Amino acid sequence: MNEYSGDRVIEIIAESIKSSERILIGGGAGLSASAGIDYTDTKTFSQLFPRWVEKGYRMQYEFIGFEEWTEGERWAYWATHMNHVFYEFPASPVYKRLHEIVQGKDFYIITSNADGMFIKSGFEPERVFQAQGNYDRLMCMKRCTAETWHTKPYIDRALAAIDHERFSVVDSAIPRCPRCNGKMTVAFRMREDYEEWADRYENWTNGIMDKRLTVMEFGVGFNTPGVIRRPFEYLVYSHDNVFFVRVNRSYVSYANTGHPQIPYEIKNKSISVNGDAADFTNRLHKLIKQDK
Ligand SMILES: [Zn+2]
Repeated sequence: MNEYSGDRVIEIIAESIKSSERILIGGGAGLSASAGIDYTDTKTFSQLFPRWVEKGYRMQYEFIGFEEWTEGERWAYWATHMNHVFYEFPASPVYKRLHEIVQGKDFYIITSNADGMFIKSGFEPERVFQAQGNYDRLMCMKRCTAETWHTKPYIDRALAAIDHERFSVVDSAIPRCPRCNGKMTVAFRMREDYEEWADRYENWTNGIMDKRLTVMEFGVGFNTPGVIRRPFEYLVYSHDNVFFVRVNRSYVSYANTGHPQIPYEIKNKSISVNGDAADFTNRLHKLIKQDK
């Protein structure tokens, strides 16, 4: 590092975007965290889940893979979480700025976030690949059918029937499979149109090797590196006319690259920015707007 610093980094990235026909953006948990959806946020957690705070829990991150609850408690948690993140959380200035930055370009988004923030903030659904699905559909946990159902009516009913003393949904309002009456869960990648989403993204990425490309990755960590991080590195490695920007608050060092978080093999066409996505998009957006 230190070859570029501060504003010069943003200028270089803005130049690359201007000279690129195509832009590919990858958004991970860190991007939504910068927009306010943060799984380590203890304050929001205490507002949404006061009963769990009393039991010694502090953040939603602790509930990933959590199984120590009754079906009623599970749905009180999930209905509250999904309602907050997917249906009530407002469009984000961070995402909106990104959308303005890519205007006039042939762009595509891949995200591991299930919160729907790209589309909610103005991105065209046909240019967004939600690689881990989203919260929009429920399925039968036993998979008695491939059919999935819109989440909203189920969680509205569950939310209206939460016993707040126990923070548990009463039995009669727990979402049940319309076919077999079994337990339900979020469909994520099992939704009926997922293959269509995946094919559309693959078709786009298969056709981008011939022209100048800027790839920007925001807040992608190592929980699921096979979704965005590794494919991006391989794409950058394979592309002859590409510039790669990796924005992340926390760094992992690779040796001999000059830029932390950038593998050696792609160091000459990459740059990393150690910072918050909200701050970065703000600066980049200003620069690109002022030059237009
Ligand atoms: Zn079923």
